[in-house]
Order: sequence, then structure tokens, then C-alpha cells
Amino acid sequence: MIRFEQVSKRYPDGTWAVNDLSFQVAEGELVTLVGPSGCGKTTTMKMVNRLIEPTDGRILLDGADISTVDPVELRRRIGYVIQQVGLFPHKTVLDNTATVPHLLGWRRSQARARAAELLELVGLDPGTHGDRYPDQLSGGQRQRVGVARALAADPPVLLMDEPFGAVDPLVREHLQNEFLKLQETVRKTVLFVTHDIEEAVRLGDRMAVYGHGRIEQLDAPAKILGAP
Ligand code: ADP
Ligand code: ADP
Repeated sequence: MIRFEQVSKRYPDGTWAVNDLSFQVAEGELVTLVGPSGCGKTTTMKMVNRLIEPTDGRILLDGADISTVDPVELRRRIGYVIQQVGLFPHKTVLDNTATVPHLLGWRRSQARARAAELLELVGLDPGTHGDRYPDQLSGGQRQRVGVARALAADPPVLLMDEPFGAVDPLVREHLQNEFLKLQETVRKTVLFVTHDIEEAVRLGDRMAVYGHGRIEQLDAPAKILGAP
């Protein structure tokens, strides 16, 4: 479903952030990208939704080279969640979540109904939390809204870049559990960046261990941990 073919990225200052990367992620699979900071995880991720263009190689989504896919279509097919989810501060939680369906041309009432559904899916009560503003939410709740919003267009692919990185460990564990449950329901193809090895083991169907712009190991967490 997502396929990297000999992908490299060199930044203008000469840094080779990603070097000759080839791997693929199956439909409905969750692959965690783990490794020390600066080893190319975020660069890998951002090349999938074309926030960054590779210097060499190509990336295929369902067999199509992403450089040939219309950017609007690409955005519809790929949800993106980052560490500090940027919510519109002057919109309520419900309206923040309804933004994407609304942009996709849904009527306002339909978009809001869809938003309420999505909030429930991520463990927020639309009645209690829907009318609040982002600054009236905890960090964990804001990240949940971010996940809800990323799911709004029902994209087959989710890119998650340290989505639970900024919340305290207990909340993080809670969010991880909820995300695993959610994934059982929605079955997205997921690339999930984390520098927390426990998180990578817990969530990943497979785990890609990065070092210096390359994937050094890619396998089920149990196999990697059990390896001599
Ligand atoms: P190593 O993995 O052996 O440490 P590097 O990744 O540091 O090698 O690459 C050595 C040099 O080769 C880099 O400084 C860069 O100039 C060049 N290089 C690396 N990757 C590529 C590539 N994909 N295409 C062209 N040149 C490359
Ligand atoms: P990670 O997500 O694993 O922390 P990144 O993909 O963010 O790694 O970065 C990989 C390498 O590329 C690092 O050496 C980083 O400093 C460098 N890098 C990232 N973004 C840029 C940029 N815009 N310009 C130059 N170098 C960058």
C-alpha cells in the first residue's frame, strides 16, 4: 500500500537525512518508526504526504507514484497527526472536527453529525467537550481532537508523528490503549513515529529501527527484541 523505492533526501545544507530507503507497509498495517532524534524518521513521514520532496527514488501509494497524485486527493487519502496538534483557537471542538468534512463539501449539519461521531470514536463526549474551545481542554484531549480531525475524511492512511509525545506518561498510556482499540475498528495503514521504544513495541505490527537515515531492522517487535 505504501512503498518506498530507494528513497533519499538531502537537505540544501548537504545533510543526507534519509539514505536509500526501500520498504513497504501493507494495507491496514501499523509500522512504528523508532530511533534517536535526527535519524530521519520525520523526514520519511513528511515525504509520504509531500511536505518534503525526495531527492532520489520514489514513493508509491496503492501502486501510484505520489508525485503524480493530485495534492488535494493526497490530502484526502492521508490523515496527519503531529505532537502539538494545531487546532483553530476560535472554533469549538465540534467545529474544529467538522472543518474537514465541511471542506469536502458536506452540508454543515452533516459535517457536525460526522464530527460528533468522530469525537465519540476517540473517547470524547460530544455533549460535554464539543462546545469547548481548545484552550479549555487538557493536552491529552487536544491530541484526541487531532486524531478525530485526521480521521474526518476517512483516509486509508494515517501519518502520526509523536502524537502522544507531549502528554504525561499516564495519559500517554491511556491514549495508546485507546488508539489500539480504535485501530481495531478503523484499520488504517499507519506510519507512527516515536522515540519511545516501549511505545513502538506496544503499538507496532512491525517496528522500523532507524539509525543515520537508514532502517537498520524492520520486523515484528517480538522478533526484534528476541534477536540475539
Ligand atoms: P555511510 O552510510 O557509509 O556513513 P553516508 O550516508 O554518510 O555514508 O554518505 C556518504 C556521502 O555519500 C554523503 O556525504 C553524500 O555526499 C553521499 N551520498 C549519500 N547518500 C547518497 C545518495 N543516495 N545519492 C548520492 N550521494 C549520496
Ligand atoms: P528525526 O525525525 O529522526 O528526529 P529528522 O527527519 O527530523 O529526524 O532529521 C533527520 C536529519 O535531517 C537531521 O540531521 C536533521 O538535523 C536534518 N534536517 C531535518 N530537517 C532539516 C532541514 N529542513 N534542513 C536541514 N536539515 C534538516
